[in-house]
Amino acid sequence: MKDRVPLPVRSLLRETGQLADRRRVRVYATGGFVRDLLIGIPNLDLDLAVEGNGIRFAKALAQRYQARVTTHDRFGTATVTLADGPTFDVATARTESYDSPAALPTVRRSSIEEDLRRRDFTINTLAIRLNTPHFGELVDHHGGRRDLKDKAIRVLHGLSFIDDPTRVFRAIRLEQRLGFQLDRNTAVLMKEAVNMKICHRLSPSRLSAEFLHVLSEREPVKTLARLADFNLLPLIHPQLKWSPGLARLLNAVEKAIQWHAGLSLGPLASPWVVYGMACMEALPQPAVQETLARLTLPGRQTQSMLWVAQEGARLLRTLNRTVKPSETFRALCTLPEETLIFLMATTRSKQTKQKITDMVTTYRKVKPVLTGHDLQTMGLEPGPLYNRLLKRLFDARLNGEVETKADECRLVNRLAKRR
Ligand code: ATP
Repeated sequence: MKDRVPLPVRSLLRETGQLADRRRVRVYATGGFVRDLLIGIPNLDLDLAVEGNGIRFAKALAQRYQARVTTHDRFGTATVTLADGPTFDVATARTESYDSPAALPTVRRSSIEEDLRRRDFTINTLAIRLNTPHFGELVDHHGGRRDLKDKAIRVLHGLSFIDDPTRVFRAIRLEQRLGFQLDRNTAVLMKEAVNMKICHRLSPSRLSAEFLHVLSEREPVKTLARLADFNLLPLIHPQLKWSPGLARLLNAVEKAIQWHAGLSLGPLASPWVVYGMACMEALPQPAVQETLARLTLPGRQTQSMLWVAQEGARLLRTLNRTVKPSETFRALCTLPEETLIFLMATTRSKQTKQKITDMVTTYRKVKPVLTGHDLQTMGLEPGPLYNRLLKRLFDARLNGEVETKADECRLVNRLAKRR
């Protein structure tokens, strides 16, 4: 930990261990944090497992740091968000048993050993002790360290994918994200589970969550390609198939997102939506509607995806025809950033690409110098006219028809006289 965890986080973990000492519970860092720590990937999403009451411990932790805490009583878990630090996901160490395949498990409080045994892959079964005398000691009951070294994704038992088919998606995401490989037996088990159509039993909301995770990966294109290798794309819609066209579009989306990042306009709120739009583009209209109605993806983004599927092509034709910047602005001004990026990825027209670039980089910053207050000083009576004048001034600015405040005053006087 010494070399790989930034000092403030290390101190935080040490203090967490000391708090656990005082409260007479045992606490461990687990999951993705430990896995990524050992392979040198920065990850400040801290997963803690508590042998004892996790929620009570999370509350004490939140009180200690005056942090926000959200509890999920049913699962015995809580999230503690520090004002300017990492987030702790605190869980009560637990065992899970599955009454039927793909159902949510029955949960019971347990020891860390049992908690680690219910995990998906060996590389996620590592834990680090945080209590004082043992601070920093690695707990490795399932060969997690060996598999990290061998870059292998391995399930803990033969029924793992049957118990919880979301692990199929998790395996593919981890494999692609970390550049690991499925261990041979795990790959066989996964293929068997897929052939048994076990993933079809997932509820739409669990499937949606997995699809969202895939689209939110840093490199979703290769993750989607791998889903296609396992014939999992039809779970999203039976007509969704991998094709050279879809691959080209997804790569174009990736490039367009990189282009946007290079403009330093601030991080994109939901890059995943742009990849989602590309997947929907591979489907006929009715299938898009069916898919988006069935999946439970966030509402605003679902609307954007639906809009693009229905109106995107028409909008690109309109953009082809716009001449003045103000026309381009009006065509694009209500669209979210993600939609603009998708249009950038789909169009082949250089002019249209330039228009979208101008919109994103320039047009939105344009502002007339004159304000409503100035119009009043110029002796114009307040009313609906103001809106029209200000809009006209804005268009004139965009189109380069006015450059100075004096130009704007002249334009206002001319328009006001014409009334
Ligand atoms: P990510 O970096 O994608 O967030 P993570 O490994 O931190 O990956 P989480 O979804 O935060 O994943 O889950 C935390 C831990 O809980 C995982 O490391 C894993 O050990 C365990 N876990 C999560 N989902 C499952 C599952 N479906 N079955 C078994 N264990 C799971």
